[in-house]
This record gives sequence, structure tokens and C-alpha cells, in this order.
Amino acid sequence: MLDTMSAKNLLSLDGRVAIVTGSTRGIGLAVARKFAGYGASLIICGRAEQLPDEIMFGFRDPSRVTYVSCDLGAAGSAERIVAAANDTHGRLDILVNNAGIQPPGDLQSSNDEEWRSVLEVNVVAAAALMRCAAAAMTHGGSIINIASSRSTRPGMGMAAYSASKSALLNLTQSAAVELGPLGARVNAVSPGLVNRPGLVESWPEGVKRFSDSAPLGRIGEPEEIANACLFLAGDAASWITGTNLAVDGGITLVR
Ligand code: NAD
Repeated sequence: MLDTMSAKNLLSLDGRVAIVTGSTRGIGLAVARKFAGYGASLIICGRAEQLPDEIMFGFRDPSRVTYVSCDLGAAGSAERIVAAANDTHGRLDILVNNAGIQPPGDLQSSNDEEWRSVLEVNVVAAAALMRCAAAAMTHGGSIINIASSRSTRPGMGMAAYSASKSALLNLTQSAAVELGPLGARVNAVSPGLVNRPGLVESWPEGVKRFSDSAPLGRIGEPEEIANACLFLAGDAASWITGTNLAVDGGITLVR
């Protein structure tokens, strides 16, 4: 059995450089904070022009965190984000494609423009970041794509979102095949419903429906997704690639 010390070493990200997209709040911020807590230097990104001080100073060592403001739907964003890792740290080890959008819309009411914007951020930007990151991962690396329980279990009113996350899962497998020989592992994490400020108050029926169905009887917390990402990012997952880790309280077993 692993002793505590070796288990800690397996999870350590000391000396590693990680990009986490969409890391100004929610799951992405929890992942970035988790990685920083385990020793990584970070490139964090979001759409805001400037990162609010309270977010930057929430990191134990803000000097190891660089913020890049970007719209992932715009050309050249992936190149700029990866260049920030190279320019600041001279290397890149981990990429988490977390940024995603979920506009409501069923098949019958959505239009082409809405479909394009979802696919642009959730799939095309993720592909561009993987392409740029792979070229920068000269020491090998780990790429994690945040998909969704909706990747495999679509629901009402989220056709474009579900299709985009399903594409992201398939893309994860293609990238794992292509980048494995170059030393990069590529995996997906598929969250179920995850808590955010105001969720329980604004959507009590959705939270109740999920909690009543899920085998573990509750929604998830951002830190629980971050824990799964920490495992996949580091040496504990050294022989794991192309997999989809469901972190969803068991919801995909029952619906
Ligand atoms: P969120 O909406 O709270 O945050 C999204 C982040 O992505 C923000 O930082 C935002 O700035 C960034 N972002 C969005 N569009 C962008 C763009 N065009 N350019 C740059 N940045 C952009 O998201 P969340 O709920 O924390 O979810 C994070 C990921 O997890 C998403 O991919 C989402 O689909 C997935 N997911 C979330 C849940 C959930 O219940 N929260 C469940 C399953 C999957």
C-alpha cells in the first residue's frame, strides 16, 4: 500500500506549469486553486479585461499566477494563452480546457448562429488549445477536457450544449491517440450538476430532481471536480489516457 508520503509525491505538481481556461469562477477557479496548492504555476484565463484583486489574492502565491484576458471565440486566443506560459515560465505541462458555455435552447428553437457560438467555444477553441499546447509540451504533459454528464445523457432544452460536449469527448479520444506518442496524455472529466453561488435559490426544482435521482443523493461541489483534475494532471495517472472520468454522484447510471 502507498504510504502517505509517496501518495503526496504522486499528486505533487511542483515545478509544473498549468493553463486552466475559464478560471475566473466556478469549476475552473477551483481547479486553478487546487493546482496552485499542489505546487503548480498557473496561467488563468477569462473574458474580463482585468482579474479582480480578490481572486488573484485568493492564491497563496499570486506571483506564480498570470492572468490572460481573452475571448476563446476569437481567432488567435489559443496562441496567446500558450505563448503566456512559454514567455513567463519557459514550459507547459498541463492544460485544462474548462471554459464552456451553455445557452438554453432545444433543437426546434435554436438557430445556426447559436449552434456556431457553442461549438466555437466548447469544441473549436478546445481543439486549438490542444494543438498549441501539444507543441509546447516538450517535457510531455497532461490535457484535461471538462465535458459533462450531458455528453452521454442529453436532456431537454440543451441540444447544442450536449452535442458540443459529446464532440469534446470524441475529440479527447482522437487527441489521446495522436498525442500519446509525443508524451502527452489526454483525458476528460464529466461533471454532473455542480453547485455555484445562488444555484439552490434560483433553481431549487433542478437541484432537488438531481439530488433525488443521483445515487449519492446530492449535487457536487467545484472542489470535487478539482480533485479529479488533480489526479489526472499528475503522475498518479501516468498510464491513463483517452478516458472519461464521470464525477457526477452516479447520475449517469440512472438517467
Ligand atoms: P461558469 O459559467 O461558472 O464559468 C465559465 C468560465 O468560462 C468563466 O470563467 C468564463 O469567463 C469562461 N468563458 C466562457 N466563455 C468564454 C469565452 N468565450 N472566452 C473565454 N472564456 C470564456 O462555468 P462552470 O459552471 O464552472 O463550468 C465549467 C465547465 O464545466 C464548463 O465547460 C461546463 O460546461 C462544465 N460543466 C459544468 C457543470 C455545472 O453544473 N456547473 C456541469 C457539467 C459540466
